[in-house]
Amino acid sequence: MRDRVPAAIVTVGTELVRGLRLDTNTAEVASALWITGYDVAETVSVPDSVDAIARTMSRLVDTYPLVVVTGGLGPTHDDVTREAAARALSRPMEREPSLEKALLTRGPGHTDPQARAQMLRQAELVSGARPIAPSVGTAPGQVIATGTSTLVLLPGPPAEMRPMVREFLGSGHHAAHVRTLRCLGITETDAQLAAQAVLGNSPGIGLTVLATPALVDVVLFDEGADDPALDEAATRIAAALGTACYSTDGSTLAETVLAHARSTGDRLATAESCTGGMVASALTDVPGASDVFAGGVVAYSNDVKTSLLGVPPSTLAAHGAVSEETALAMATGALGLGATCAVATTGVAGPTGGSPDKPVGLVWIATASRHSQGTAREYRFPGDRTGVRARATAHALDALRRALLVP
Ligand code: AMP
Ligand code: MG
Repeated sequence: MRDRVPAAIVTVGTELVRGLRLDTNTAEVASALWITGYDVAETVSVPDSVDAIARTMSRLVDTYPLVVVTGGLGPTHDDVTREAAARALSRPMEREPSLEKALLTRGPGHTDPQARAQMLRQAELVSGARPIAPSVGTAPGQVIATGTSTLVLLPGPPAEMRPMVREFLGSGHHAAHVRTLRCLGITETDAQLAAQAVLGNSPGIGLTVLATPALVDVVLFDEGADDPALDEAATRIAAALGTACYSTDGSTLAETVLAHARSTGDRLATAESCTGGMVASALTDVPGASDVFAGGVVAYSNDVKTSLLGVPPSTLAAHGAVSEETALAMATGALGLGATCAVATTGVAGPTGGSPDKPVGLVWIATASRHSQGTAREYRFPGDRTGVRARATAHALDALRRALLVP
């Protein structure tokens, strides 16, 4: 088993501990550290307080060979990570002339003396620190060797932090020893049992199952196994998961759908009611979607279902907007956008609008395609409006994927 180097991550920001902002830096730094060969043993969030940050830093640099801190390096009064690091390491701070010069030439040309003085706080280095020049923003990072540990200070904004992580980690000791098998339409317990049945007690491969409302990821970690062993396990587990597994290379569901359409030469379109454009949004999140995604219609009212998608008023009158017949007519109508394969969603997302025969969570998803007759399927999704819409979006993408699998 390869020896991983223990590390800790600290995210600084009162907004994080009060729940005003989601801490995404921990996840980004943790995955970068894992694939570079570190073992993150602890992650902590602390408020913008010199005391709290310094106490946490002191404890962690005494415990771990690497401590990465994000946040609190900006120019405002609550950016106190530099002061906290100086206190934790009992070192002075020094104004670095080259950083000061860079701030004066590249920074926001403040004329107000107080704003200018605050901006120049970003040129303060903990004595002995190596600065990391910012490629985005103005705050430099700092790498401080303490003798037994390395303390790395990075800015909080993810776009500023990201290039600096790459800078100090370099190209890494070894490649990404993780395999992610992405699934839909299987419970997390069934996915776990299927994976464990394949793995047996294979030494050196760690397993975790990560579930969101709609999607389940089966993640294999290298805990000593080599790349071919991980690949072999991933291939066997994917076979056991069957068509529930839509990707083995980390691709998202939308990326998978677009790749399928590219290989079958299809053009896609969407007709969305209860998902309000979320399916089109997921597809267009992927760079290069334009070569296979024609477009979509958000057909929320009956009028728009008829005028833009050609759903017959008689269908709406006889079966209602949330019905198999309407879903099929919407998908067929979307083919008219210049597509060869289209998906439609119509459902009751809640919290209002449900009835005994059409309760909240009832969603019809239909596909129409040049490959096959249109098909529609009824779903009864649990959860609140957000959950119902997220599940409907994922299952609509999956319906497209399955429609494209039909030869
Ligand atoms: P800072 O310069 O550290 O005060 O951070 C500036 C902004 O970056 C904050 O207002 C947040 O919006 C964002 N930010 C800081 N820390 C994090 C984090 N751990 N995860 C995500 N965003 C963050
Ligand atoms: Mg902050």
